[in-house]
Parts: sequence; structure tokens; C-alpha cells
Amino acid sequence: MPFKFMNSLNDSISELDPDRIYVENIRSILKTNTRIARFICKLAVRKGYFEKYYAISCKNETCGRVIKSYQDKTEIPLELVCQMCEEDGTLVYTFATENLIVTPYYKYIQGTYELA
Ligand SMILES: [Zn+2]
Repeated sequence: MPFKFMNSLNDSISELDPDRIYVENIRSILKTNTRIARFICKLAVRKGYFEKYYAISCKNETCGRVIKSYQDKTEIPLELVCQMCEEDGTLVYTFATENLIVTPYYKYIQGTYELA
């Protein structure tokens, strides 16, 4: 079953930013649901096509930018400083990470698919 998806993924991957692929991108490309898209991403990681990262976004409404990305969830510190907000002179720029939104995304490892 997944191979059908993997083939259409291969056809469409060039339309994406290979350094920042979201489950939602995969879902819309494959015209499937989120559950299957997640499964495909997981499979792609296991096969070495994708690397998984976690992007942590700033909580300030005026910002919302990605503060930092981590490959290993255990490396995420308890507190994060948004340097953009600090430089902008925003009052609050230090956040407890548990209150921040963590968005998983994937990086496509160039050339790995063709080797499969
Ligand atoms: Zn910020």
C-alpha cells in the first residue's frame, strides 16, 4: 500500500521546500487524510528519505516566528528566548517551552529516494 503513495510523493517532492515539509503538505499532495500523511512521513523517516525536526514558534501574536528547530525532542530546553522579539523590544520574549507550539516538519534527504 505505501509504495503507491511513495511514488506520487516522489513525483511531487520537487514542488515542496525540501528543507521544510509539513504533514499538511504531504496530505494535500497525496490527497489523503492526516493520519495516512503522518504514517507516510514516519515511513519516509524510517527509510531514510526524511529527517524529522521540531520547530518551536514564538507565542507573541505579533511575531509567531520559529524560534528554533530541534532534531531531538529531548534537546528542547525548558525555556526559550525569542531573539527577534528581544531585539524588537517586545515586553515578553522568554517563554516556558511547554507553552509554545511545537510543529513537526521534515527535511528531504537529497537523492535518497532514487537509491531506493
Ligand atoms: Zn517572537
